[in-house]
Amino acid sequence: MNIRHEPRVPRSAARPCSSCEMTLTAPVAALEDVPALLGCSQRADRTTDQFVSFNVYACPHCGLVQTDAGFDVETYEIVHSHAVGGVWEEHRRQLADFTREQLGMRLDRLERVLEIGPSVNPVAREIGFTRASVQYVDAMPKAPFDLGSREEYVCGVFPAAALKRPCDLVLASHIAEHAESLAAFVHGVAAHLKDGGLAILSIPDFQEWLERRYWNAITSEHLNYPLSEQVDELCERLGLTAQHHRFRGHSLFMALRHRAGQKPLVHQRVDTRALVIGWVQDINATVARMEAALSRSTQSVVVTGASHLAQYLTMMSPQVGQRAQFVVDNATSKHGQRLYGTDLRVRAFEALSALPEPLVIVPPSPYQQEMAEQVRGLNQHAVVVA
Ligand SMILES: [Zn+2]
Repeated sequence: MNIRHEPRVPRSAARPCSSCEMTLTAPVAALEDVPALLGCSQRADRTTDQFVSFNVYACPHCGLVQTDAGFDVETYEIVHSHAVGGVWEEHRRQLADFTREQLGMRLDRLERVLEIGPSVNPVAREIGFTRASVQYVDAMPKAPFDLGSREEYVCGVFPAAALKRPCDLVLASHIAEHAESLAAFVHGVAAHLKDGGLAILSIPDFQEWLERRYWNAITSEHLNYPLSEQVDELCERLGLTAQHHRFRGHSLFMALRHRAGQKPLVHQRVDTRALVIGWVQDINATVARMEAALSRSTQSVVVTGASHLAQYLTMMSPQVGQRAQFVVDNATSKHGQRLYGTDLRVRAFEALSALPEPLVIVPPSPYQQEMAEQVRGLNQHAVVVA
């Protein structure tokens, strides 16, 4: 696996931007042979694991970062059914609060609601409608939950699916970043709104993720990486207004409405090309630093974080991959599982206490310091490489 800014992955000629539809020029980076899934697999061996290579573009016209990885229904299903746990529960509650606040009216006045991509956890249910009919559209063949009397499920990919309209409210939580065309997606959302209707979207907070150099900032799972200013610009072109709310550096909530004659905003332009290049350089420098630490030691090697963290590190560096004995993670659901794309097994952090002087690699993430302290607490002879 490689992450580089001199792309070698073949690209399709004359690719249009997913937002402004102008022609994209040369890619700014490429991810080669990365695991199609971030995290663990329940399958014992890795013969069916999939790897993908794709280019990363920063549109020279509107700045949108995007990839040519393509949409894969199977991966999308697995990724979305994984979106459970503490942060996601809080995300759902906060998004429901944001929606109620933006609606600013009694919920029983709403007649029709559309939720795009509810997966196993519809936001519409968290909001709690008493009268409105709710239509769900998602890629799975049937709804992964039991439907109530006012609920209906349509299998399809938005905006191609035939759905009832016009709606008072359209919801889409962590869906727009998977769309083949961001412009077609947002245009489709607008086309389903009645006059005075509201659309609520949530996407990853890509500005935060890229600036903080999170290793999962760019993955095969996401095709579009809009920052708030690019959402504003796209909305302006489509006759919409957008209000934003940032949720804990995790997500960007957006309230979209048809525009009633306001002046377009003046945007600041983030240099997204430089942002992607900085991200690529930081990952490669970190991997090199960790390899150097490894070459100075002959001890057992353990990597923390049974996710993209251990995947990227062990797959980008054969040296780390060959010497790693196992991966530790705090999620009990991952214990005993195999790290997707590798032969490494996942164990509890407590497994570290039995090793004499382990070299424990803690890749950069928002949890790096916490995990390093946890390692030292379990084994005072452990050498932490962070
Ligand atoms: Zn563009």
